[in-house]
Amino acid sequence: MSQRRKFIKQSLLGSALFLPGVAASCAQTNEQKTPSGEKPLILSTWNHGLPANQDAWAKLNETGSILDAVEAGVRNTELDMENLSVGLQGLPDREGITTLDASIMTGDGSCGSVAFVRQIKHPISLARAVMEKTPHVMLAGEGARQFAIAQGFPLEEEKLSTKAQEAYDQWRITSQYKPVINIENHDTIGMIGIDAAGKLAGSCTTSGLAYKMHGRIGDSPIIGAGLFVDDEVGAATATGLGESIIRICGSFLIVELMRQGRTPQEACEEAVRRLIAKNKGIEDIQAGFLAINKYGEVGAFAVHPGFNYAKATAEGNVLIDSGSHFSK
Ligand code: ASP
Repeated sequence: MSQRRKFIKQSLLGSALFLPGVAASCAQTNEQKTPSGEKPLILSTWNHGLPANQDAWAKLNETGSILDAVEAGVRNTELDMENLSVGLQGLPDREGITTLDASIMTGDGSCGSVAFVRQIKHPISLARAVMEKTPHVMLAGEGARQFAIAQGFPLEEEKLSTKAQEAYDQWRITSQYKPVINIENHDTIGMIGIDAAGKLAGSCTTSGLAYKMHGRIGDSPIIGAGLFVDDEVGAATATGLGESIIRICGSFLIVELMRQGRTPQEACEEAVRRLIAKNKGIEDIQAGFLAINKYGEVGAFAVHPGFNYAKATAEGNVLIDSGSHFSK
C-alpha cells in the first residue's frame, strides 16, 4: 500500500514500449494538431496504471486498435494479486462475496458494461462482449454470468484471495462500513487513450467498495459516470466513491464541459467542485477524475490529495500526482 502512494517515474526509453513506429506516427500527427497535446497517449488511474499502460501500449503497437489497447491494459490490473480493489482478488462485499463492475467505450458511442458479476476473471472482456455481441449496453448479476458462460468465459472458483480473506476477517470483528480516503478500497483502474489518428477509447474495472452491501453497483459500469468517450470531444474516467460520482454523472459532465470549450484540466476541476457541492460528508469522500481531449491534452483533479495517474506517450510512462481541491 505504501508503494502505491509513492511518486514513481518509470522511463520507457529503451524499453519495449518505446517503439519507433509509434514515435514516428506521433511526430507526423502532431504537425497537424494543437501544440500542447500528444498522440498517441494513454492515461490510467493510480500507480497500477504504469504496468497497465505498458500492456496497453504494446497492444496498440501490435494491433493498431485503441480499443484493444484499453482492454489489454486493464486486464493486467484484473490479474494483479497485490491489488485489492480490482479483479477477483479484490475485497469482498459484506457477505464475503467479491462482485465486479466494468465498462468499455469507444468514441463512436459504442459501449458495453457488466455489473455485480461474480466468478469472471476479466470483466472488462465480458463488457466488451456485451458491446460487440449483444444489442444491449449493460448486463448485471446472474444474467451477466449466464452470458459469460454462453460466450465461453471460464467461471473461476468463488474463493477469496489470502489477503482479501485476512482483511475481511479483520473487518468482521467490527463490521463497520466507513469509507476511508485513499485506502485500498479506492483504487479502481480507469484507462482512456487516443491513437495517432485521434480515435478514442476507454475502460474501467473494479471490485468496487470494500464491504459494500450485496448488490451494490458503483460508478464504474455506469456509462457517463465512471467512463465516457466521444471522438468529437475527448474522454474521461473516474475513481473514488462511486455514489458521489454517479450523482453528478462525472465522466459525461467532464466531456460535455470540454465540448463547451473547457480544457481537460478545467473540466476535471469543475467536476470536482460540482461533486463537492452535491455530496454531504465530503471530508470522508475521495474521488478523482482523468480526462483527455481530442488533441491529446490531459487533465486530472481530485477532491483530496493522494490521487495519481500514469501517463504513457512515445516518450515514456510516468506517474504524476494530481492536484486536489483540498490541500490536506
Ligand atoms: N469507483 C469505485 C466504486 O465506487 C471504487 C473506487 O474507485 O474507489 O465502485
